[in-house]
Amino acid sequence: SADMLIRANQVDSLANHFPPCMREMHRHLNTVHHMKHTGRRQFGLFLKGLGVPMEESLAYWKRAFGPKIAPDAFDRNYAYNIRYDYGREGSRTQARPFGCRSIILGDPPARGSGPHAIEQHGCPLRQSKEPELRRLAQSYHLRDAEMPSLLAEVQGSHYQFACGRLLRSMRQSRAQATKAPGTEAPPPVDDDIRPISHPNEFASISMGINRS
Ligand code: SF4
Repeated sequence: SADMLIRANQVDSLANHFPPCMREMHRHLNTVHHMKHTGRRQFGLFLKGLGVPMEESLAYWKRAFGPKIAPDAFDRNYAYNIRYDYGREGSRTQARPFGCRSIILGDPPARGSGPHAIEQHGCPLRQSKEPELRRLAQSYHLRDAEMPSLLAEVQGSHYQFACGRLLRSMRQSRAQATKAPGTEAPPPVDDDIRPISHPNEFASISMGINRS
């Protein structure tokens, strides 16, 4: 469980700490203003893991769906599942955010026609073709010299390791950017690539939260 409380209106500003899967879903939500069931669970439980409480999560989804779904229709059709994932409905068990293995091994998203038919969930490192992978890598500031390694890792199905490479790249570029003029070196970033096992682990490391 998280130590910090995150409000609905803070989610957008934290997206630069999200792993590829969650960034893609966040982007989808902000452009299409709709998401199918599997994506809602994957992203919704991630937000819960991030420290977004239930009321804030309901507010977040309602606003994200706002341009397409009226508030009363949202309450009727979508709120139950969010409350359920917080243990307030049904069996009242606490659902846990999905880890990388179950996301990677799950059914890939269907690509139907029309924006409401498009699913957006799963692991983009597994599902993307090379041009998309290059765009993704750029958004994590991966150096050109590392691109062949990333592509080889994806080719070899080492998605979680590739994800760790993107996290390292993003942290290195951030450390460079925060280097004050006249100082010797940027703050050190762990040089080893560690495979990512959980989307919330990626976000915690990026945000500098030590949960151990
Ligand atoms: Fe998300 Fe895990 Fe895939 Fe990274 S390896 S994009 S955290 S599912």
